Amino acid sequence: MLDSMQTSNAKSYAVQTATSPLAPFGIKRREPGSKDVEIDILFCGVCHSDLHTGRNEWHNTIYPFVPGHEIVGRVTRVGGSVTKFKSGDHVAVGVMVDTCRTCPNCQAGQEQYCLSIPVSTYNSEDKILGGTTFGGYSSSIVVDEDFVFRVPAGLDLAATAPLLCAGITTYSPSGTGRLDQTTK
Ligand SMILES: [Zn+2]
Ligand SMILES: [Zn+2]
Repeated sequence: MLDSMQTSNAKSYAVQTATSPLAPFGIKRREPGSKDVEIDILFCGVCHSDLHTGRNEWHNTIYPFVPGHEIVGRVTRVGGSVTKFKSGDHVAVGVMVDTCRTCPNCQAGQEQYCLSIPVSTYNSEDKILGGTTFGGYSSSIVVDEDFVFRVPAGLDLAATAPLLCAGITTYSPSGTGRLDQTTK
């Protein structure tokens, strides 16, 4: 972790080994940077990937592991350069929280096909805070606004969560895709 990095405490459910159950676990979230959105998590879907990763069935799990990449919540704080969201907005986060931003696929708005491999919402190297990324089985998360989606007014928030991975896979299998294109 960067010595100067400000953090806040969050609650989560984590698995500590491939055979242990989910259990309460304290984690750190970074203070929102200039382009970050801090989200109070209200709902999180359960994806089959959560189970495979938790049980290390894909042989790449870093423990402790906090699952969850079908996240719906409410914005609590935003960084000074955030333009798309404000406190109180209902928002969602899917399977990735960053990409290289510069490869042809990222430039084309197809970040799920990033040639450098996207930073996954969980079980990826956390390049900002250090350690690994922790998912949505938690009380809060901090994500760059470019990887946060607006939840349209009137949608049932709990029913929206599975759209962020399982649902969107119907349209663009490698990731969350772009809700603004795929919901037309
Ligand atoms: Zn999933
Ligand atoms: Zn890229």
